[in-house]
Amino acid sequence: MPESTKIKVVNPATGETFEEVPTTTRKELDAATKRARSAFGEWRGVSGLERAEIFHGISRTLLEHADELAETMTKEGGKPFIENRDEVDWTAACFDYYGEVARDSVGYLPAPIEAEQLALVIKEPVGTVACIVPWNYPLLLAAWKVAPALAAGNAVILKPSEETPLATRRMAEIIEGLPDGLLQTIHGAGDVGDMLVRHPEVDMVAFTGSQETGRKVGMVTAERLIRANLELGGKDPFIICDDVDIEVAAQGAVWAACLNAGQVCTSPERFYVMKGVAGEFLEAARSHVESLNIGDPMEKATDIGPMINAAGRAKVESHVGEAEANGAKVVVGGGRPYERGFFYEPTILTGVEPSMAVMSEETFGPVIPVVEVGGLDEAIAHANSVPFGLGANIYTRDFGNMLRCMREIRAGTVWINDPLTDNDAAPFGGQKGSGIGRELGREGLEAFQESKHVHIDPRVEKKEWWYPYGE
Ligand code: NAD
Repeated sequence: MPESTKIKVVNPATGETFEEVPTTTRKELDAATKRARSAFGEWRGVSGLERAEIFHGISRTLLEHADELAETMTKEGGKPFIENRDEVDWTAACFDYYGEVARDSVGYLPAPIEAEQLALVIKEPVGTVACIVPWNYPLLLAAWKVAPALAAGNAVILKPSEETPLATRRMAEIIEGLPDGLLQTIHGAGDVGDMLVRHPEVDMVAFTGSQETGRKVGMVTAERLIRANLELGGKDPFIICDDVDIEVAAQGAVWAACLNAGQVCTSPERFYVMKGVAGEFLEAARSHVESLNIGDPMEKATDIGPMINAAGRAKVESHVGEAEANGAKVVVGGGRPYERGFFYEPTILTGVEPSMAVMSEETFGPVIPVVEVGGLDEAIAHANSVPFGLGANIYTRDFGNMLRCMREIRAGTVWINDPLTDNDAAPFGGQKGSGIGRELGREGLEAFQESKHVHIDPRVEKKEWWYPYGE
């Protein structure tokens, strides 16, 4: 059980600790769950229309504080400021979206058994929801849970990653209009996360993180028989057909692979390029990678910032090192550009094999392993060959190719000619080992709703199928 200690917040661009945040104790969590329960009661009395107005207010507040929040995220997480600034916009948009969708999602009327009766399906909140998020998109991934959970009428206890507690703490401070205790933030590492998931006053867990931690969370929620939404890791494929502008496809591929230094759950990590254009693709990708600025994430001109920490970079180095030792070739990158901070160069590899870690496990870094394929059959077979199924990207102009990829690739999202574009109004999540459940869209609200069937017969009459059967 966690004692009251402190989390050290490190700037990944320098490797230096710049702030400390107290870890939540069991006693504090007990108190938080009590406050959540009482706020939940109060929130039930707030109409959908009022909730929507509060949510639009939250969205405006986030935008008013956008620069400050983005700066904090950059300092604690290392993602370039420009990407963090976008993240605040998307976070605000998520509150706007769920404020409106929830008003329109309170239930439906199925056909009753008899014409004189009325059947209702009412959507109700689950109770207190634990939201546990990783460090790579701290505010956005929190909003994808917190906004629909609150909109559905629940109370929320939010635990950000121990790497990035500050922007989340600030977001919770500036949010106004909710009953006291409806949204609370607790802090700590895996032990605090585990304490939260096991807490008897927690009714549901919405988790985003690695497969390994997701499995642990899922074991606890299964044991407790409470609901869990699990958004886990990926090993996304990226297919480049020979009927597109290869320069555009190469730039799209490099951007998608190197965004947030490759630390996006949907970062493409395996590239399958049709034989006829593989040479052209490699040359275009290499020259684009060489043109990128790696450096201070606060600088406007910076394309790629540092990785989150030394352990994250060490994993990438081990994947690249193992590939090289087994015959892969580094086309560009493969090293540390600076001594200070946790930077790693964007790296293109050729000569990779499916058995290598860089092609089978989540690397979570700016690495682009390229494989030449003879046709779409081979590309799709490769795409489906790993136990992950989060996203998939394809570049093609051919409608038949689009339809085949759409139907045949097992992934939660398929992006065609526009990598990594998420949409609040469409579900996001993983197939296979990449998760259970969906966020965003209507599915993302339903995840936080219980369905209650109400059957009403206005007539008080004895039914002919009751006892005694002998009559
Ligand atoms: P992580 O699994 O190490 O940690 C995620 C969160 O879980 C953190 O807040 C952590 O403190 C907490 N945690 C750790 N152990 C716990 C336990 N036993 N019980 C409860 N909580 C616990 O992941 P990370 O390193 O922070 O993030 C990177 C991973 O997240 C990658 O695998 C990435 O693919 C994944 N991710 C997935 C999505 C998605 O939507 N599918 C989005 C972003 C990141």
